[in-house]
Amino acid sequence: MSSDFKSILTENRLFEPSAEFKSKARISSMEDYQRLHAESLNDPDTFWTREASELTWQQPWTKVLDWQPPFAKWFVDAKLNVSENCVDRHVAAGKGDKPAILWEGEPGDTRTISYAELQTEVATFAAVLLNHGIKAGDRVIIYMPMVPEAAIAMLATARIGAVHSVIFGGFSSESIKDRLLDSGATAVITADGGYRRGKVVPLKDNVDTALKNAPHVTTVIVLKRTGQNIAMQEGRDAWWHDETAKVTEGAPANGFDSEHPLFILYTSGSTGKPKGILHTSGGYLTGTYVSSKYIFDLREDDVYWCTADVGWITGHSYIVFGPLSNGATILMYEGAPDTPHQGRFWEIVEKYKVSILYTAPTAIRAFIKWGDDHVDKFDLSSLRLLGSVGEPINPEAWMWYHHKIGGGRCPIVDTWWQTETGSILITPLPGVTPTKPGTATLPFFGVDAAILDEDGKEVGPNEGGKLVIRKPWPSMLRTLYGDNDRYKEVYWSTYENIYLAGDSARRDDDGYFWIMGRIDDVLNVSGHRLGTAEVESALVSHESVAEAAVVGRPDELKGQAVVAFVTVKGGVDPTPELAAALKKHVANVIGAIARPDDIRFAAGLPKTRSGKIMRRLLKEICAGGVIKGDTTTLEDLNVIASLQASGKDED
Ligand code: ATP
Ligand code: MG
Repeated sequence: MSSDFKSILTENRLFEPSAEFKSKARISSMEDYQRLHAESLNDPDTFWTREASELTWQQPWTKVLDWQPPFAKWFVDAKLNVSENCVDRHVAAGKGDKPAILWEGEPGDTRTISYAELQTEVATFAAVLLNHGIKAGDRVIIYMPMVPEAAIAMLATARIGAVHSVIFGGFSSESIKDRLLDSGATAVITADGGYRRGKVVPLKDNVDTALKNAPHVTTVIVLKRTGQNIAMQEGRDAWWHDETAKVTEGAPANGFDSEHPLFILYTSGSTGKPKGILHTSGGYLTGTYVSSKYIFDLREDDVYWCTADVGWITGHSYIVFGPLSNGATILMYEGAPDTPHQGRFWEIVEKYKVSILYTAPTAIRAFIKWGDDHVDKFDLSSLRLLGSVGEPINPEAWMWYHHKIGGGRCPIVDTWWQTETGSILITPLPGVTPTKPGTATLPFFGVDAAILDEDGKEVGPNEGGKLVIRKPWPSMLRTLYGDNDRYKEVYWSTYENIYLAGDSARRDDDGYFWIMGRIDDVLNVSGHRLGTAEVESALVSHESVAEAAVVGRPDELKGQAVVAFVTVKGGVDPTPELAAALKKHVANVIGAIARPDDIRFAAGLPKTRSGKIMRRLLKEICAGGVIKGDTTTLEDLNVIASLQASGKDED
């Protein structure tokens, strides 16, 4: 990226951690953060030995890191059992009665599972898997609703050394089939159905359709959740409750090699065909354990709620493995944020006295669109820490989150990371890092993040470039499943022995990292390169706008014209006058160069099922209307149809 890739956004608001939070923080000052961060890079053996030693290992490592770029081995020769670390060790430490999982179903049914109960359930289900001939290294698909059994299935699979691949319960049979074939899984764990927006999702039916073309699957275990009629194939399909009832003794938590595969997870597909990210055991668990401890400041009496689905990396690392390895109490919610009403999240926060909430910008923008009334009805005073992940958070959405949800008192951790990184890499530390709306701030321990230009030179302050990580970290992906060549090509071929994240970013004068958008989405307007995030945030800072996505359309004069797809807040009329006002607003806020050529009002934007805007589809619409790219991870195909139908807004 040439040096004309400059930032045009200026954000000067700074929020110091409160004295109250600061007085209890694990790391007490920025100096301490800097000292520990320097140690983690200069003397990783000391840093990671100290941190990893807080976990339970059945055999110690002989070497912290073996780095043969781009292949890393962490905690070489060590043995551990991931499920023992997430469950058994807390029971052994006398915390058996502590709630591990608080669960709320969409229809309002509830369950509380203590660590002792979780241990029994995990060991029992692990025995079921063994009884069905599933062995260490075998791949197991988990396709379930957000019920405790989803986490139990993940932990049970890990307990016997099998490799899970969780598929989000909203995906179709086609997506299941692709992932089944790519992973070579021989077993599927599913449910009859799940509840979503008041409807039953036919999970088992979807599995049946997918399995028509996958004869290598010999075991399907089905949890009864909704009770609707489903087909059960003799010899292949068995009920969860029948199988667990047969178990007399739970499976032991034997140790597996630190580099034993833990799971394969397919990325959300914002930029193309999903990639099968492979994570292994010791490094991944250490990364998620340490990051959960410091970034979410987990304490004994916290009620921690991450609103992601277990089908995403956020659900893997920050519902299951990170918080449970810390012995935290987690909340799981099965349903949608607007069912049965648009205040559902806040009702749950009040009911369970949630103290830590981790959610996504897409959700925050939806709450803003729905209006403050839904929030005001509930008592949110139990909250003490807020988190954001998934996309750059628009500064105005950050401000709303800070004031309306956090009551101005809760630090916000805006956490940048990826399926590939396994755990959070860039983030504030609560009580320590002064925050600014819209930036993930500074690298976490062990993370050597930088921004490079095309020649591999670090760019200067406020210059845009490619975000990279220059040193290996414990929870990094090990490869793309079954495809070392693609792994090298995608992440390691741009710069030598440096990980390419795929995002563009800049650092401000304080060294804070600002994500400017995906490299693939960068706009090129009259020779200037613009990140999408800044233009979108300028639009969202207008009082009428709920959400915006910006893409480039081929233009003879400018190279690319800026097209903005905009959804408005409830009660706002999307008039031509508003379109004109928005163009002017962007020009005022960040400069004439970013002024949109077209504003297209839309009822919704195309998103992945995890809520990320899919700009590549909008780009295709602008370029001619025919969608050629992969749409299997798209949330709602109708959105595309209506965008294509609506055509161009008057200029
Ligand atoms: P694919 O790689 O298949 O296109 P994806 O990148 O959307 O899918 P994920 O691994 O779920 O799949 O998402 C990681 C990406 O999400 C990051 O590369 C970044 O673009 C974005 N992201 C996540 N957290 C943040 C954040 N806090 N700030 C800015 N961007 C973020
Ligand atoms: Mg990605």
